[in-house]
Amino acid sequence: MGLESSVILITGGNAGIGRAIASRFLRSGSVVIILGINTESGQETVAAFKEEYPSCSVAFYTCDVSQTAAVDAAVETILREYGRIDVVVNNAGIVADQLLMKMQEDEWDRVLQVNLKSCYNVCRATVRSMLRNRQGRIINISSVIGLMGNSGQTNYAASKAGMIGFSKSLAKEVATRGITVNCVAPGFIETQMTASLAESHKQAILQDIPMGYMGGPEDIAEAVYFLASPVARYITGQVLAVDGGMVMH
Ligand code: NDP
Repeated sequence: MGLESSVILITGGNAGIGRAIASRFLRSGSVVIILGINTESGQETVAAFKEEYPSCSVAFYTCDVSQTAAVDAAVETILREYGRIDVVVNNAGIVADQLLMKMQEDEWDRVLQVNLKSCYNVCRATVRSMLRNRQGRIINISSVIGLMGNSGQTNYAASKAGMIGFSKSLAKEVATRGITVNCVAPGFIETQMTASLAESHKQAILQDIPMGYMGGPEDIAEAVYFLASPVARYITGQVLAVDGGMVMH
């Protein structure tokens, strides 16, 4: 699909969906750079990928993507090292679920900072070089929760809906320069994030999925890969729900 040797920056690529996205690009010969907070698991991820794809180019940089200065420094180093960034995937995300009445300020701030401010941080740091190259792909991992809301997730839903408004606005700012900005909105996907849900809660969610089963991280990875590829050049400002039919417009 024409992404061989392209440089892909993925936040939160050590686990779950981010790791599946990294794997998808590596399988196609792209250069993959992961930003994450856990240095040890970052090194393990890189070692595992090098074993799986012996000739691959993959690197990990320790970086809390909610921190503007840390992202600026990491992106500066990456651009110096690799010369360009072709694709950005803002995937890092957390939850801190609580009914609004009981939600602490810290639970609100942290979720907004990691999920939404990270988008501002990473996009602002990388978009200038994309503008210069007159090409680029930005793919933000939102959520169906940002489209339909969920009790106990006002912070998470606000962050994920915020990513959508952010992406549409940025898409308009950079459209004439060959840069596309889109969101993928996963539904209910099997990762660490969903593993901790009570069985009764999982069964209740499954009732709302027309296809009747949870998706896998690879389902999201394929959608991201498609949006990153040259064949998707005319798609921008969109939200692609990958959710077994949970949200239909
Ligand atoms: P995981 O919890 O499995 O992985 C999240 C990743 O983000 C981890 O690698 C984590 O690093 C990283 N991360 C967390 N905080 C930071 C930070 N401050 N700086 C850098 N990296 C950070 O989540 P999923 O794979 O399930 O989710 C990935 C994305 O998909 C998230 O944005 C999530 O909201 C979204 N999503 C997931 C759904 C699902 O059903 N799983 C549904 C809808 C959306 P570390 O491993 O070091 O903790």
